Amino acid sequence: MTASNSSLAFNSEEILIGGKWRPAENGATHDVYNPSTGDMICKIGKSSAKDVDDAVRAARAALDGEWGQMTAVERGRLLMRISEAIKNHENELTTLEAMDVGKPITQARNDAVAMARYFEFYAGAADKVMGHTIPYMDGYMVYTLREPHGVTGHIIPWNYPMQIAGRCIGGALAMGNTCVLKPAEDAGLTALLFARIAEKAGLPSGVLNVVSGVGAEAGASLAGHPDVDHISFTGSVGVGKEIQKAAAENIVPVTLELGGKSPQIVFDDADLDAALPFLVNAGIQNAGQTCSAGSRILVQRGVYEDVISRMSEAISKLRVGQATDNLELGPLVSAKQKAIVDGYIDSGKESGLSIAAQGVMSDDLPEKGCYIKPTLFRDVPPDHKLAQEEIFGPVQVVIPFDTEVEAVKIANGTEYGLVTGIWTENGARQMRMAKAVKAGQIFINNYGAGGGVELPFGGIGKSGFGREKGFEALYGFSVLKTVATKHD
Ligand code: ADP
Repeated sequence: MTASNSSLAFNSEEILIGGKWRPAENGATHDVYNPSTGDMICKIGKSSAKDVDDAVRAARAALDGEWGQMTAVERGRLLMRISEAIKNHENELTTLEAMDVGKPITQARNDAVAMARYFEFYAGAADKVMGHTIPYMDGYMVYTLREPHGVTGHIIPWNYPMQIAGRCIGGALAMGNTCVLKPAEDAGLTALLFARIAEKAGLPSGVLNVVSGVGAEAGASLAGHPDVDHISFTGSVGVGKEIQKAAAENIVPVTLELGGKSPQIVFDDADLDAALPFLVNAGIQNAGQTCSAGSRILVQRGVYEDVISRMSEAISKLRVGQATDNLELGPLVSAKQKAIVDGYIDSGKESGLSIAAQGVMSDDLPEKGCYIKPTLFRDVPPDHKLAQEEIFGPVQVVIPFDTEVEAVKIANGTEYGLVTGIWTENGARQMRMAKAVKAGQIFINNYGAGGGVELPFGGIGKSGFGREKGFEALYGFSVLKTVATKHD
């Protein structure tokens, strides 16, 4: 495909290696489908292990070129130019993303805006990463330096392709690393357009390389490549384990941002008017395909029926349509994902769980589109699979509780620990709960699914380790060196 509506027309079958756009080895491609219609829209390059090896070599070579000589302030200025360039191409990125992954236009646009914001944030942060001086024995001067790892590999998923590319590439570049980016097989187009944008903005050749392709081939080759110095991965727990094993062979550090089953805990004294939009949106944003979706709604008995009735009313008005219809929900990313989510809804029905509400499908949706109605299950036992497993679709469960202790037990009762929302007006309880729940991010009287460029983000337990976003991510993208000098 050539993106003809773009001022940066690009051939989706080409990958970027060392500043050169070229087909993958032997011209290999795979098909790209529009999940709103089910139609094939183009082919995308399918990188081989050899292509990945070429990309890693190019990234290594770029460290010795102009990029390696740049000061932190120069890198920051360049990142700011990339941020501006992303904004200038916001419409093209938005349209392409909506077509590729089915995001309603407004949500696709939010992602383009967030990607620009990541580059803006990391532009400002680039020259503010400092070491320490350390008091030591007499006659010594000791200080620490933060240096780039070198070549960083980035394996990203399909749910927020632009935001996740922005946060990991932005952070890695700010620290002076070079990058090899492997976008998801179902969501590679905006990564290619973004690379064109960064190139035009002046990013030197080889600093960012993009190897679109499939996980088992391009992804696995990148994760296991002996000349990669750091891997950042966002995706499923199963693949996260594979990445960690592959990196372990080379003793390479990894950052793993895996799934979640994040609770939003509503106490009797919560401001329900304020909570309602967050309770609903955190579960259905991006059609529920969000690692940090607040999809387990724990509600104290005194407001239980009230919360269910308010959520039901809101959910029954949610509309599902094509990305271009720009309704509250678009399709899921693929037929495969739709089958998975349909399976979860069926399993809830088979267990006799009751559905409190479902949204509305637009009329005349294309038959091959990957649509699912947002669905709210009520009275779900905390150990049911709908309350334990990451569904990655617009399905929420409501669970009652009586006491704070019980709420903590249920909240912490999954293998995940990514985000928790706490809704209460009681300040002491806010503090107690923030300490007691196991999660990398806690929101009190708000909930930020997927948001917060400035806010360190990552999990505990099976949600992974390491932190993305914010300033904290820069520590992950750097190596600490301690220098001890003996003097007279
Ligand atoms: P999800 O389907 O939840 O997005 P996956 O974990 O399947 O998550 O995919 C996330 C990313 O990992 C994608 O870019 C995918 O191509 C890649 N991937 C899948 N399998 C592997 C693998 N064995 N090794 C490395 N990367 C992989």
